[in-house]
Amino acid sequence: MTQGPIRTDFDQYMFPTYAPAPFIPVKGKGSVIVDQQGKEYIDFAGGIAVNALGHANEKLKKALTDQADSLWHVGNGYTNEPVLKLAKKLVESTFADKVFFCNSGAEANEAALKLARKYAHDHYGAAKNEIVAFTNSFHGRTLFTVSAGGQPKYSQDFAPLPGGIKHVAFNDIEAAKAVIGANTCAVIVEPVQGEGGVVAANSEFLQSLRDLCDQHDALLIFDEVQTGVGRTGHLYAYMHYSVQPDVLSSAKALGGGFPIGAVLTTDKYASTLSVGAHGTTFGGNPLAAAVANAVLKEINQPVFLQGVRDRHDLFVTRLNEINEKFGLFKEIRGLGLLIGCELTPEHSGQAKLISNLAAQQGLIFLIAGPDVIRFAPALNIPVKDIETGLARFTAAIEIYLKKE
Ligand code: PLP
Repeated sequence: MTQGPIRTDFDQYMFPTYAPAPFIPVKGKGSVIVDQQGKEYIDFAGGIAVNALGHANEKLKKALTDQADSLWHVGNGYTNEPVLKLAKKLVESTFADKVFFCNSGAEANEAALKLARKYAHDHYGAAKNEIVAFTNSFHGRTLFTVSAGGQPKYSQDFAPLPGGIKHVAFNDIEAAKAVIGANTCAVIVEPVQGEGGVVAANSEFLQSLRDLCDQHDALLIFDEVQTGVGRTGHLYAYMHYSVQPDVLSSAKALGGGFPIGAVLTTDKYASTLSVGAHGTTFGGNPLAAAVANAVLKEINQPVFLQGVRDRHDLFVTRLNEINEKFGLFKEIRGLGLLIGCELTPEHSGQAKLISNLAAQQGLIFLIAGPDVIRFAPALNIPVKDIETGLARFTAAIEIYLKKE
């Protein structure tokens, strides 16, 4: 619960769209943040899977301030050096031939869906317009992306919604087969559903989607807004699955905390968005691109990505130990440093309460729905911070169990 002057100012001046924590972070270094009262918190939330290199990373600071000294913004009537470098780097590191830049995950998915609609429209005519998406998915908050998302609570009050979108169960190959057909222009899927509870796709499921899209010349869109840029222990999660999408959306960690989004695709599809077909004022901004270059330089290295997988193993080992003691979790799951702990039915709905208790102990993390505790810390989080954070987590669980 927020209280005192923070609550008052928030309530007085801001939309009531969020329910912020009762403390205000003022500083951060690495995986530790500090609030106005000087209290420290270990950060297992990473700004919702954004601060991939922690807070106030020296290399990112340098990239940002160096760029700030030279050129901030020119608009897309001109290109700029940092964005050209970033596009080249993304192309050289992935399946893609071309990149489009924007400012957020929702915008990246919006562009991906528009690209798919236009490709089908240009090549097959208006009837091929159906988009297949999955229950519990999350793709952003624009009207198109919130409609593609598989959580009606986020879209129903904004009707009429864009049409032509069908939702079927995630990881259900037969359900996908039943809806993907000649009129499908795109299938959009998160390789690991993040907001939907940290649920990883099965390899066979993603491969079947690949095959079905090939069969019907539909674009397979991987929403890697949360799973991208090292989060799963691979630069992008598709590399873990060895299933290649036609279009990939990236954001969050790409800027390490500076807003940027990107759509990656092959030459075959990129030409669809010809001059004037799509655009955004800030996309490819030099400041954002300069920071993203520094992020990728750091993360896209085998040793760094191995470090993410090693930290996953440490987290899972410790979480299993915690669970042996308290029996609180039905399942511990996820890839890399996107880890979910689903509460047992007896503790259903208590994820938020446990996170509030953890904050009192000096630990912040995310939840993914009412029953899943979600960890998405910096990918370079020091082992000692993992250990301290999990000790605070244990203390919070003890308090929670005593309160019951
Ligand atoms: N797609 C996925 C998988 C996400 O997790 C999110 C945000 O949580 C989005 C899209 C939307 O990104 P943004 O909030 O940057 O618009």
